[in-house]
Amino acid sequence: MQYETFFRRQLDTLRREGNYRVFADLQRHAGDFPRATHLRERSRTPVTVWCSNDYLGMGQHPQVLAAMHEALDRCGAGAGGTRNIAGTNHYHVLLERELADLHNAESALLFTSGYVANWAALSTLASRIPGCVVLSDALNHASMIEGIRHSRAKCVVFAHNDVADLDRKLAQLDPEVPKLVAFESVYSMDGDIAPIKEICDVADKHGAMTYIDEVHAVGMYGPRGGGVAEREGLSHRLTVIEGTLAKGFGVVGGYIAGSAAVCDFVRSFASGFIFTTSLPPAVAAGALASVRHLKSSNAEREGQRRQVAYLRRRLDEEGVPHQANPSHIVPVIVGDPIQCKQITDLLVEQFGIYVQPINYPTVPKGTERLRITPSPLHTDSDIEHLVAALSALWSQLQLSRAA
Ligand SMILES: *Cc1c(COP(=O)(O)O)cnc(C)c1O
Repeated sequence: MQYETFFRRQLDTLRREGNYRVFADLQRHAGDFPRATHLRERSRTPVTVWCSNDYLGMGQHPQVLAAMHEALDRCGAGAGGTRNIAGTNHYHVLLERELADLHNAESALLFTSGYVANWAALSTLASRIPGCVVLSDALNHASMIEGIRHSRAKCVVFAHNDVADLDRKLAQLDPEVPKLVAFESVYSMDGDIAPIKEICDVADKHGAMTYIDEVHAVGMYGPRGGGVAEREGLSHRLTVIEGTLAKGFGVVGGYIAGSAAVCDFVRSFASGFIFTTSLPPAVAAGALASVRHLKSSNAEREGQRRQVAYLRRRLDEEGVPHQANPSHIVPVIVGDPIQCKQITDLLVEQFGIYVQPINYPTVPKGTERLRITPSPLHTDSDIEHLVAALSALWSQLQLSRAA
């Protein structure tokens, strides 16, 4: 086989379809979210970032940066080992306690990312519980799908957020068989939110465990940032709550929270937990500062809600169509990968606005979109500038407007 030719042909196909990913080369500015410098071959231009998952700007928060500097000076660069062999730093212990408390759980367990948390926890639970069947929401994140697949457990996919379908599919299984219902709270591309209570009710009725990915909700929902389950008083109903320290909390890392037994079980059996170096102490310290801050401060959550509402209102006034949902994610559907890329290229070149186009396979073909994530640190004039730019491009490209 001509390996190089094979690689190049596959990449050419992606390019032709408009699905080839081009990374924006960015330099973030410490303490100045959402500003960055966009580096290209012959230019360096200032941009405002409108698609970051650092949803609250915590990645530039002075308390987080100070905690990271302090831990770096105190402990040095890396953790020095896996959790089991010399790599458990006191910051990891403090952070796990803080996360357990955040979710009103007995215990929490850290992973190097949210992806690894899902992959390791789901694959361990589903493979180690004899005969376990996983019921997986049709729109679950790749990390959950990969974890379930790796477990080789039987997986039944239920229609997205469809409690009746879940009920039917659970009813078809042997009542004696162990079952795990895996779903998310906020779905990141459409910004819709799962009916958590109803899913827990149906899971209880059939004796199933529940596993919720709150990656797009932790830090942002609930009076202490404990996610949608906390907001709705449902934290105690879930067997496992999974989250990230990289999005609302602005640093990096992932975790699960649950009973002492379930966390200890995953800690003891999950390859993806055991055989990898733990997070650097400075990262754990930064995440700890972020979680603590957002537990007691509502200013960031309120500011985010205000700016999301303001952006939506201004888009409505200009007739730029956007998809309604109850979350902080504002999807502007374009429906064509090449046009989507064209819009985002023009936004950055003409207006200094950076929004990454979202194409297949992240979203289904024909629903290519801009995924806009307003933060409390985007000012009203940032929003005015974004809306004016979009409105101008909607005219220039003759795109259809909302009524
Ligand atoms: C981003 C994401 C993850 C992975 O989290 P990371 O900490 O970025 O690895 C998991 N689940 C969902 C739904 C996500 O969007």
